[in-house]
Amino acid sequence: MAKNSSRIAGRHFLQIPGPTPVPDRILRAMDQAVIDHRGPEFGKLGKRVLDGIKTIFKTTSPVIIYPASGTGAWEAALANTLSPGDRVLMVETGHFAALWKAMALKLGLKPDFIESDWRTGADPKLIEAKLREDKAKEYKAVCVVHNETSTGCVTLVNEVRKAIDAASHPALLMVDTISGLASVDFRHDEWGVDVTVSGSQKGLMLPPGISFNALSDKALAASKNAKLPKAFWSWDEMIANNKNGYFPYTPSTNLLYALAEAIDMLHEEGLDNVFARHDRHAEATRRAVRAWGLEILCKEPRHYSSALTAVILPAGHDSDAFRKAALESFDISLGTGLSKVAGKVFRIGHLGDTNDLTILGALAGVEMALSIAGVPHKKGGVQAAMDYFAAQHGGGAKAAAE
Ligand code: PLP
Repeated sequence: MAKNSSRIAGRHFLQIPGPTPVPDRILRAMDQAVIDHRGPEFGKLGKRVLDGIKTIFKTTSPVIIYPASGTGAWEAALANTLSPGDRVLMVETGHFAALWKAMALKLGLKPDFIESDWRTGADPKLIEAKLREDKAKEYKAVCVVHNETSTGCVTLVNEVRKAIDAASHPALLMVDTISGLASVDFRHDEWGVDVTVSGSQKGLMLPPGISFNALSDKALAASKNAKLPKAFWSWDEMIANNKNGYFPYTPSTNLLYALAEAIDMLHEEGLDNVFARHDRHAEATRRAVRAWGLEILCKEPRHYSSALTAVILPAGHDSDAFRKAALESFDISLGTGLSKVAGKVFRIGHLGDTNDLTILGALAGVEMALSIAGVPHKKGGVQAAMDYFAAQHGGGAKAAAE
């Protein structure tokens, strides 16, 4: 990039695992005069998004929309269902699981934390064992992170559900899919999730600023007796107002226009196609990483995230120095290593509104920046990704036949 210029041409490559690039169509949908949030026009918008978002969570139960980042929706999930001193079972899959646990402590809950090495998803067997030990049924909730954004590891939520059922335990199942929703398949009803927490700025392709709680009948029943203090986060008033498409306080009106557009876009593409696209981009990225001779943080293929890939740099090489070189040279933002893995890993976000060429551009930026930052690696990562994409479109077969 020119050093003597105040303008950088072209669009910034936002390859962090959220916020993700907001498509032009969504930017245009937001670009509207603010309307009266108590007027008739708003009621229609409210109903449209409150109904539409259920199809993304794959639920027929209410989905609450908060004017808050994902952290708010975490708090809402706990505050609406639990009482001071309640025991909750959480799993240390990474930085975000640790933050949710820290929040539980601050709220006066008693979290038990199943430790892990940050290189895999939550282990259903360990959850089942903990629940079987709990003869008095003191655990009121099991909380897991579906897509751990700090590690690029996915927890198999349906297996966690089976573990809870196998132990015949009544605990609620709460899942954070803040960075999984609309990138990695998620089925709130089918998997028997009681509260699903998500946010706007990842697979939904919106700017940050709204977040969600998808509920179950069991969660709603628990909320009637839950004693943790809550006011802003209270589901009751939300649900009462949402019936007619309204909110108890001023909603993020223009983000709701954006949400309506995002839901339309996801269905136009087809959710299964959206997931397949994310799978393809993740696979191309992993092929590039392997070709560079670098290590993927997530150990087991069945836990690989299709939303992001965390890459370990060789010992002695600082991942933030590498990220700085990438940003300064190619105007690409890569995800930093968080807490335990700070300086050791960087993360490539491949979620949201991406296509094959965006991914190749990002991988080219990474490969060149590895060289600029002096990180030992082999060439050919981008080529490996190109070969994979070409083969996906029948390229390899044709070339082999010629
Ligand atoms: N949980 C996960 C898995 C996340 O990725 C994030 C943010 O990246 C959060 C929780 C916190 O959400 P927010 O930063 O929107 O408050």
